[in-house]
Amino acid sequence: MSLEARRVKLWQRLGLGPVWQQRFIAPAGCSEDPAAGAQAPPATAIASMDWDGLQRAVTACTACALCETRTQTVFGVGDRNARWMVVGEAPGAEEDARGEPFVGQAGRLLDRMLAAAGLDRAAGGESAVYIANVLKCRPPANRNPEPGEVARCEPFLRRQIELLAPRLILVMGRFAAQSLLATDASIASLRGRAHLIEVGGGTIPVIVTYHPAYLLRNLADKAKVWSDLCLAREVFMRKN
Ligand code: URA
Repeated sequence: MSLEARRVKLWQRLGLGPVWQQRFIAPAGCSEDPAAGAQAPPATAIASMDWDGLQRAVTACTACALCETRTQTVFGVGDRNARWMVVGEAPGAEEDARGEPFVGQAGRLLDRMLAAAGLDRAAGGESAVYIANVLKCRPPANRNPEPGEVARCEPFLRRQIELLAPRLILVMGRFAAQSLLATDASIASLRGRAHLIEVGGGTIPVIVTYHPAYLLRNLADKAKVWSDLCLAREVFMRKN
């Protein structure tokens, strides 16, 4: 087992979750084949971008094949001074059409969940929340993101987290949770406690809950989401 894998295991045994580390992702063209041409800045360049530069880099990104089928990239929405961050999986059809995360049916449920926690994507101050996805482009037919796509998009989300420096991240659904926490653990085992990720020299607590699209199909799990939101608020207050 590598040193890094042993370190992650130790963090997990301590109940802290893995440490999300800076990793160099080689630039590549609009293809899984790196020989096809470089159309995304290297992770080292992304790591020093400001918000506007980062958004321009995402808009211009052709680092994987998703650039061929997207209508537009979906960068993120909300106050860039928000202390809360929500991380989802990837844009769907409506997000791809409108260029904003979580604007479809699942997004409307997310907005109601956030409102119940006193949060609003259009607000500033105490109620502000910034929303972004692991992937910035829609996977065709809403298929699951592929590991290569996640690896190439990861530096963008990491930089968003660094720039925002939120006090807490609420991560929606198995896919985003497993990506952010670098684990293959089930959502059931990840819920109910705070994980820590290390970004920009600090640690940020992460609370895992069900994806609103899952909730639309499994209304009986609403109570679990409510308890996740209560936990998130509790951890957020502790962090302040
Ligand atoms: N599901 C997500 O995870 N993100 C979106 O933006 C829309 C649906």
